[in-house]
Amino acid sequence: MAEASEALDRVMVIGAHPDDPEFGCAGTVVKWAQAGKEITYVLLTSGDKGSADPDLRPGRLAAQREEEQRAAAQELGVERVIFLRYADGLLENTMELRRRLCEVIRQHRPHIVLTIDPWRPYQLHPDHRAAGQAALDAIYAAREWYIFPEQLVQDVVPWRVKEVYLFWTHDADYYEDISASIDARIAALARHTSQVGTDVEKLSERIRHHAHQTGETAGCEYAEGFKRFQF
Ligand SMILES: [Zn+2]
Repeated sequence: MAEASEALDRVMVIGAHPDDPEFGCAGTVVKWAQAGKEITYVLLTSGDKGSADPDLRPGRLAAQREEEQRAAAQELGVERVIFLRYADGLLENTMELRRRLCEVIRQHRPHIVLTIDPWRPYQLHPDHRAAGQAALDAIYAAREWYIFPEQLVQDVVPWRVKEVYLFWTHDADYYEDISASIDARIAALARHTSQVGTDVEKLSERIRHHAHQTGETAGCEYAEGFKRFQF
């Protein structure tokens, strides 16, 4: 395989909760899906604590949120959605999680990974910090022959991710023009009814406002900003 000339056509988005991809990078996701890239979502939790309603049982909410995430992903042209079902609100960057994520990366062999910037100053949500850190640690582990070698059976070999894009960053150095895809992003976000409610107008205003601010830096109408690493 001629790695240097290989197209970067497999993309993995790793988030803590259903709706993280849509809030973080879905304008880019839909744009890349339309350009022919194969997109895989990996959600570490199913967002089962994401409600203020004490009568809504966590299992039921998790099922609803997985359904919402699948619908949003379908709207964007995402190929597959994987739920690892760790406990919402209690996510930790453990060796067990790193091993699991490393396995998923070696199985699906993404050229590009998009995940949460764990180093954003005052990133208060513990799941968001843990998810970004675990994703980056798993990317490192996945390329090594002697880390989790028990996974390297049959056709599985170490896998080197080529590019990483961190979203929700305060240190963006790469921008994607999402002027043509912001409507699709908002439509996908609107699928997360349990989180965003039914006032799509208000949601749309908020998303446009933020993407427009980023666009001013990027020199286009609407943009998403990332901290980008190329290996
Ligand atoms: Zn989240």
